[in-house]
Amino acid sequence: MPPDEGCRRCRLCEGRTTIVLPSGDRRSPVALVGEAPGEQEDLRGEPFVGRAGRTLDRLMAEAGLERGAVLITNTVKCRPPGNRRPKADEMAACRPFLLEELAGKTFVLALGLSAAEDLLGRRMVMKEVCNRPLQADLGQGTVTVMVTYHPSACVYRPFAKDALREALRTAASYL
Ligand code: SF4
Repeated sequence: MPPDEGCRRCRLCEGRTTIVLPSGDRRSPVALVGEAPGEQEDLRGEPFVGRAGRTLDRLMAEAGLERGAVLITNTVKCRPPGNRRPKADEMAACRPFLLEELAGKTFVLALGLSAAEDLLGRRMVMKEVCNRPLQADLGQGTVTVMVTYHPSACVYRPFAKDALREALRTAASYL
């Protein structure tokens, strides 16, 4: 079950405009998981529709990955105030919804370390894990998880853009 529109399981409910539920194909074997909704996502109720979303769209097109062919979601469904990083207890509160969204997936691409650390339950260093396939039990068997850069990290960093594009190509190979 997704969160109901009045969900108050964590303090992020206090500042949100709307709960941002996943977009794309819920039955896809591939999921892209970001950290949290930003301002535009909070206003429009859809993940990755702001500046970072436009970067993601561009790189997905370059990688041959259709947005509608994958599930796109965030670790928490409500915008943190000032776009701060979600806190551990907020991620824990929203995790049952995330795990339900990811049930049946074979490939999960974590966009940014925050999403990766929530998914894998440990701290990581990006350069040590970036674009490497990892195995994780997300509650319903083992899933391949790949960690890469969040689209917002790509603006002034060509190497991050290249890594994200390559990871999206890998995601496309799972379809
Ligand atoms: S972030 Fe998740 S758990 Fe917290 S209020 Fe929003 S929907 Fe509920």
